[in-house]
Amino acid sequence: MTARSNRLDKAETSLPVTREIVTRLLLNFSKLHSVATNAYGDHRTLLDQAHAQASSIRVDMTDRQTDVLLSVSDLEYRYGDRLAARGVTFSVGHQQCFGLLGPNGAGKTTTLSCIAGLLSAWTGQMQFAGQAFQPASRVQDRARLGLVPQELAIYPNLTARENLVFFAKLSGVAAAEREQVVAKNLELAGLTDRQHDLVRTFSGGMQRRLNLAAGLLHKPALVLLDEPTVGVDPQSRNHLFETLLRLKSQGLSLLYTTHYMEEAQRLCDCVAIMNEGTIVGVGTPAQLAASIDQPDANLEQVFLHLTGRSLRDA
Ligand code: ATP
Repeated sequence: MTARSNRLDKAETSLPVTREIVTRLLLNFSKLHSVATNAYGDHRTLLDQAHAQASSIRVDMTDRQTDVLLSVSDLEYRYGDRLAARGVTFSVGHQQCFGLLGPNGAGKTTTLSCIAGLLSAWTGQMQFAGQAFQPASRVQDRARLGLVPQELAIYPNLTARENLVFFAKLSGVAAAEREQVVAKNLELAGLTDRQHDLVRTFSGGMQRRLNLAAGLLHKPALVLLDEPTVGVDPQSRNHLFETLLRLKSQGLSLLYTTHYMEEAQRLCDCVAIMNEGTIVGVGTPAQLAASIDQPDANLEQVFLHLTGRSLRDA
């Protein structure tokens, strides 16, 4: 057996199943209590669940009945006594890049986690392409989404290619298509030349690009990106932006959280600004600037106007 296939086989049986990996697979960690022990049997259970989830899914986005892809209304979520999201209402259009902006602790990740089905005890309503959307309980709803989590959810001791093959299998990509899908996503990540190198030898930017590619393998209709450019250099950031714009032009919709206003200004067609769990402004950057009677204001100025200048230590 070659070192490569040996490593990949091992990944399916004994590499750590971290919280990030579970998140990547859009599985609820709290429902997988046995995973933490990381024994072979538990790992197998996780993989079986992910695989059963993925292989039962075929999403047809051709029956497009509305320009709104995802709508979220009156979303509320509590951690104990702490209300982390309240009355959150917005919608993401087809082929739109929608930015969810806010200072630390504003509730962005909580909102994204409710949409991804990683948190289930929320109240409110969600619809996807005009249909009721229940990501926490319905596998086929989660399959419409790709998630690019804040923490890297890739294996450092596998190569870039091995990572994508592994996650393509778990995402239910048919064996006959797998080579093509992996090659396409390596190219998208700008990693074709480095595909046989171990991920632990990659720069932060290369790892971020692979983290993005791993979320796209099953061709989701909407990709949730949770601060995908944290800690990357300007070149990799630029590459990520260009990749996202390319994906958008190919029909994908994006829900993008970031602290970086210049990113949102460049990428997003529409933004919602969150503060202390609620949305305090929503619209195009120009509409938001007009709403504060400063038509020439950039997004950063609008953001500070709407969220205040005090420090956040949530
Ligand atoms: P950041 O930009 O720092 O990631 P965020 O906008 O994503 O922040 P959230 O992570 O959604 O904000 O947090 C919203 C609020 O909920 C914060 O007050 C945070 O402290 C709290 N919170 C988040 N996760 C938990 C948790 N697991 N248990 C208790 N409180 C939490």
